[in-house]
Amino acid sequence: MDLYTEGDPIADAKAPDGPIETRWERRRFEAKLVNPANRRKLTVIVVGTGLAGGSAAATLAEQGYQVKSYCYQDSPRRAHSIAAQGGINAAKNYRNDGDSVHRLFYDTVKGGDFRSRESNVHRLAEVSVNIIDQCVAQGVPFAREYGGLLDTRSFGGAQVQRTFYARGQTGQQLLLGAYQALERQIGLGNVEMNARHEMLELIIVDGRARGIVVRDLVTGEITTEMADAVVLASGGYGNVFYLSTNAKGCNVTASWRAHRKGAYFANPCYTQIHPTCIPVSGDHQSKLTLMSESLRNDGRVWVPKAKGDNRAPRDIPEDERDYYLERIYPSFGNLVPRDIASRAAKNVCDEGRGVGPGGLGVYLDFADAINRLGRKAIEAKYGNLFEMYERITGEDPYQVPMRIYPAVHYTMGGLWVDYDLQSTIPGLFVIGEANFSDHGANRLGASALMQGLADGYFVLPNTLANYLASGPFDKVDASHPAAVEARATVEDRLQRLLAINGDRTVDSFHRELGQIMWEHCGMERSEAGLRKAIDEIRTLRDEFWQRVRVPGDGEGLNQSLEKAGRVADFFELAELMCIDALHREESCGGHFRAEHQTPDGEAQRDDERFAYVAAWEYGGTGQPVLHKEDLKFEYVHPTQRSYK
Ligand SMILES: Cc1cc2nc3c(=O)[nH]c(=O)nc-3n(C[C@H](O)[C@H](O)[C@H](O)COP(=O)(O)OP(=O)(O)OC[C@H]3O[C@@H](n4cnc5c(N)ncnc54)[C@H](O)[C@@H]3O)c2cc1C
Repeated sequence: MDLYTEGDPIADAKAPDGPIETRWERRRFEAKLVNPANRRKLTVIVVGTGLAGGSAAATLAEQGYQVKSYCYQDSPRRAHSIAAQGGINAAKNYRNDGDSVHRLFYDTVKGGDFRSRESNVHRLAEVSVNIIDQCVAQGVPFAREYGGLLDTRSFGGAQVQRTFYARGQTGQQLLLGAYQALERQIGLGNVEMNARHEMLELIIVDGRARGIVVRDLVTGEITTEMADAVVLASGGYGNVFYLSTNAKGCNVTASWRAHRKGAYFANPCYTQIHPTCIPVSGDHQSKLTLMSESLRNDGRVWVPKAKGDNRAPRDIPEDERDYYLERIYPSFGNLVPRDIASRAAKNVCDEGRGVGPGGLGVYLDFADAINRLGRKAIEAKYGNLFEMYERITGEDPYQVPMRIYPAVHYTMGGLWVDYDLQSTIPGLFVIGEANFSDHGANRLGASALMQGLADGYFVLPNTLANYLASGPFDKVDASHPAAVEARATVEDRLQRLLAINGDRTVDSFHRELGQIMWEHCGMERSEAGLRKAIDEIRTLRDEFWQRVRVPGDGEGLNQSLEKAGRVADFFELAELMCIDALHREESCGGHFRAEHQTPDGEAQRDDERFAYVAAWEYGGTGQPVLHKEDLKFEYVHPTQRSYK
């Protein structure tokens, strides 16, 4: 292909071998330690205070390191993780329904459509049980069942009930737990908290990550912060699509600036489209709202059997309804994984059987569950979600079915990391949604929280110590030429954006970019569409740098300036996403290429040619360079995924 070049393969040099259930234990034992007296002398920067960054910063400080923590919100507990609704997976098997570490491992590798690393996923499943204990000890109020044990419910892609939850506010409760742990360390003086500070550049000294350049979003002051290691926990990049379920502020800037400095970006095209979101209602919208997957425990998805049937849902008799997920996938029914449920919704809408304005919606109906369990039981499980739905749509889901449609939700791609969660830049570690993660081409519900907390509480604190033990590194400060240069780059870029003084708002560019991405790099992709998207992105990006208008100056609070920097990075990322999607001539998980499907319309993988992680090196003004990391499957052998 003319759009990229291919470089040497990349290997995960830290990946342990031997029986899979012993690998993490062995890596932990072999990892070098830093003694407590030396930890006090080491400083770690953690960018991000969501579940990944908050848990990491608290744990590292608890261990005795000096931590500098950054977020762009006004408080660490406003990180996007607070929005997570449905739950967190763990292989506790409290239900005695056949769950085990091995089954969670198996479900996750299969759910990811065989595009994740077995060793990492097994570690995740092992650590999942510790996460629940840790959070309970912190006082996280998980739902409990009558006997007193923690309650669980089902999520997609699993036939056991392993999802722990706190009503529809699991992320909020987990984040409050991590935040309290973080606050304790802030109070003790071990964490220096810098809210409303945005990282705009990574500083590399002698090939190692040694600091960041940040802008104080209130005063506009730019400072240079040095450390012995840098951890990015800056979240996902779904907002490249403009409309998504992510918080408005979510962006790719921290990761992208690190990518420009040499960190490889893996599988950028793997985007999760969540099947149950409130449909788009018009051009005015700047945000979409998720209705948690947990609702599919009790809600039944259907559309009318006949095209164009626009009767009110309650007037459509049972035998004229198509409960299409139950019909096509009888084993998993409404709880098929997200990629499958999203495509099925798109298919019935494409057939002209969608409901609501524009026919872009399907019903999620609770009538059966309310009849069976009573309204009170449904309220106890999902009350806040029902309220949220009613506030947004004006319809009461206790009376009429919800209308839902797929929307961008999560990004499985991210900065490439090895088994130790270290990027291709020594000393730069990446955790949570920001790394390319353990979810392969499709994340199962309730496993992002699991991964973020596994990384932050349990994995990074071991692997980072191994890195720091290879020090001490030379002392460096803000006068080092690499730091001075990084700071100058930030100042120049801000000045460049302010100087354009054009006639189009940042948001108008972002919205148009999002439309291109949704159209051509969304639920379904094709070669022609992706090529068109790349041309359109390039043209729009040139226009952005000539016509964007950023009012005000850089000397204080200026949200247009913040957004302009983020949208500029989204433009570069968007192009790489399309190149990645174009080069991957197969369908897998969230990446569905129209040219590659089975006769019954399911994703058709090509394991011969594409069983690898695509790790992209920044190409500057030239082409990006592809490095392939081969994936090996010794325990869960790739098969055509079936949920029928
Ligand atoms: C509506 C919704 C519901 C969800 N529900 C679930 C669920 O039920 N179960 C589940 O497992 N997953 C769920 N997810 C996914 C999950 O919430 C996220 O994947 C996860 O919370 C990400 O955590 P994180 O710590 O990696 O990043 P985030 O929580 O996004 O935190 C990112 C942090 O980085 C900081 N940051 C970013 N860039 C910069 C910068 N340049 N400078 C300084 N700071 C920066 C931010 O300020 C923030 O503190 C849901 C997602 C959404 C959108």
